[in-house]
Amino acid sequence: MENKTNYRPTKAVIDLQAIHQNVVSLRHYLQPNVRIIAVVKANAYGHGDIEVANAAINAGATMLAVATPDEAVHIREHFDYIDILVLGATPASFIPYASRENITLTVFSAEWMEQAQEYLPLSKQVKLHVKIDSGMGRIGITTKEELLTLYSVIQKSSQFVVDGIFTHFATADEEDDDGYFEKQVCLFKELLNVLPEKPRLVHVANTATALVKDSSLQYDAVRFGISMYGLLASSYVGELLPFPLKPAFSLETELVHVKKLKAGQSVGYGATFTAEKDCFIGTIPIGYADGMIRRLSGQEVLIGGRRAQIIGRICMDQSMILMEEAYNVGEHVLLIGQQQEDEITIDDWASKLETINYEIPCVITARVPRVYKS
Ligand SMILES: *Cc1c(COP(=O)(O)O)cnc(C)c1O
Repeated sequence: MENKTNYRPTKAVIDLQAIHQNVVSLRHYLQPNVRIIAVVKANAYGHGDIEVANAAINAGATMLAVATPDEAVHIREHFDYIDILVLGATPASFIPYASRENITLTVFSAEWMEQAQEYLPLSKQVKLHVKIDSGMGRIGITTKEELLTLYSVIQKSSQFVVDGIFTHFATADEEDDDGYFEKQVCLFKELLNVLPEKPRLVHVANTATALVKDSSLQYDAVRFGISMYGLLASSYVGELLPFPLKPAFSLETELVHVKKLKAGQSVGYGATFTAEKDCFIGTIPIGYADGMIRRLSGQEVLIGGRRAQIIGRICMDQSMILMEEAYNVGEHVLLIGQQQEDEITIDDWASKLETINYEIPCVITARVPRVYKS
């Protein structure tokens, strides 16, 4: 896929080979015949949905999962055949599109099914995956009665095809959860047993479940998200990881200005940084409008194989770094990624921001072009 021209040097570089390799490693690790559903919601966790989907499909993923109908439409515009599952709730008004374009929808309420009937054109079919809420408390059916009621509506019409059933775990990436995970597994199995026949695709495992739990939970498919991008769901998952992962996301820019600051001079809004001794300040064209939020002040970047700190307040479009020497304008600055022996990771940003790694690439805004390396 071709990268378009960008004039600003700030960009996220996505290593599609890493994504490909992570999916291939998973495929080799899974039991034979277990399918890989590549989770590419939220613009593939900020990495770029079309390019990531392409890499994942080439590596053996046979279905894509997104969160919203609009995300499904975007993917379908680029891929004619691949199965696409919308994991979240969908308005019934999306049914005509879903039916025509073969988008599989998640269903968890009988009322929704009744509405769906009104939207579904005569003699057309729509594929459904039934969602069980076994303890996540988000969307899904929680009891046998609800499940049977839902099925009775579904079975009234041959236009509804139940292609799958699934659930999602709340604590799969935790070492000690007081048995919560097991309770979810039990409830799911109980509900599954109520069904007259199992649909084609039973799937419960997200990344953490697939990598560190009992292989029987792989069922017919696993939903591979965070580790496809080379990130760990938690440090517990990291300890038990069955194969190495390669991160795909790096964030880089260049110096656009370099100046010498005399002791006593200050930098940025509020003049919050004051030089204690003469020093060099570099300006980089990235700010909070790019998702590098102000709380990242103090975070380090890599320049010329060394670390430099972001100082003062991060502006909307620019930030300043404190440098040990006067690098040239145009010098490469790495905010996330590996330079020589040193590396700044998405996890470093996550711990600085007291959040999880999932959130970091998602909040790097669309102003930062994603460019692809393969
Ligand atoms: C996001 C999501 C996943 C992927 O989870 P990871 O932890 O990134 O593997 C799987 N299933 C559902 C229902 C999701 O919403």
